[in-house]
Amino acid sequence: STAPVTVTVTGAAGKIAYSLLFRLASGLVYGPDTPVRLRLLDIPSAVTAAEGVAMEIEDCALPLVDSIEITDDATAAFDGANAAFLVGAMPRGKGMERSDLLSANGAIFRDQGRSINAGAADDIRVVVVGNPANTNAYIAHRHAPDVPAGRFTALMRLDHNRALSQLATRLGAPVAELDGVVVWGNHSATQFPDVSYTTRAGEPVTAGLGRDWLADTFIPRVANRGSEIIAVRGSSSAASAAGAAVDQMRDWVHGTPGESWTTVALPSDGQYGTVPGVVTGLPCRSHGGEWEVVEGLEIDDFQRARIDASVAELISERDAVHALGLT
Ligand code: NDP
Repeated sequence: STAPVTVTVTGAAGKIAYSLLFRLASGLVYGPDTPVRLRLLDIPSAVTAAEGVAMEIEDCALPLVDSIEITDDATAAFDGANAAFLVGAMPRGKGMERSDLLSANGAIFRDQGRSINAGAADDIRVVVVGNPANTNAYIAHRHAPDVPAGRFTALMRLDHNRALSQLATRLGAPVAELDGVVVWGNHSATQFPDVSYTTRAGEPVTAGLGRDWLADTFIPRVANRGSEIIAVRGSSSAASAAGAAVDQMRDWVHGTPGESWTTVALPSDGQYGTVPGVVTGLPCRSHGGEWEVVEGLEIDDFQRARIDASVAELISERDAVHALGLT
């Protein structure tokens, strides 16, 4: 077996972490030969509950679990971390303004960015899940100047997976035959799930779908899937979010196959008319342990308008956290 990897999960007592931790402990990111050292971070009032989760992980007697530490101290949690899943975030409470949410979460992600900068391993990979995920990742990376920007990502893989699944259903195709889906922009209602480049077993699929179905059914269905899950299940999506976070980290570490791509939100270099530095959903391949943005795709007017609308929302979030003194 190889050397153990240290993986930090914040919001460790929460619902998403409850699915995520067991997948990590089972080897779904690093494979069957790599032991994991789990670090569970949560706020002081949730530490006891996180200890309960750790007890359950112990009770699985999983051979890959090297150790489990539980803490409410970010400095300790990120010290030597190779991977960090930033899941914990302040939920939007009743009567809470958007600026209250940004300022509460901004402070959390500022401090965590600083702790990552100070103590994480050189190969640290960060996946931000807690909302507003793109802007939280932006804040964290702004406070980690010694860590390459490309090490800070936000999770849009769940949106991507939802898009894949909806399209597979519509086409009557297995998900495995589809490639070339991307979700541009923000992990929010303005996101743009885009199947313009999608192929089934190498053949383009878009022509048969129709603009009306894309604009009136597919895009809103994917963008509002989280609300649909809450309405039907009575609780927010957790296992699917955890599964997507695992998919993203696994592909980052092990690579994406051949020319195929996936969606990652990362600090843009300005590709496709997006804004440099802003954490934006883009088509990405993983080669050699790094994400690279797929270049050279053609963008038509329908796509341009939707990408621009979501990027405009990201810019307003960036400007709001800047005005709050958080970046
Ligand atoms: P969840 O585990 O259900 O969700 C955690 C975060 O993930 C939320 O911000 C949620 O956003 C977000 N999220 C992103 N994508 C999705 C998705 N597709 N479906 C659902 N959620 C998504 O929250 P819990 O309330 O169960 O747990 C949160 C935990 O975080 C608590 O244990 C709390 O104590 C902890 N916490 C830890 C902090 C820290 O470690 N410093 C700071 C603050 C809280 P949304 O709210 O929009 O649903």
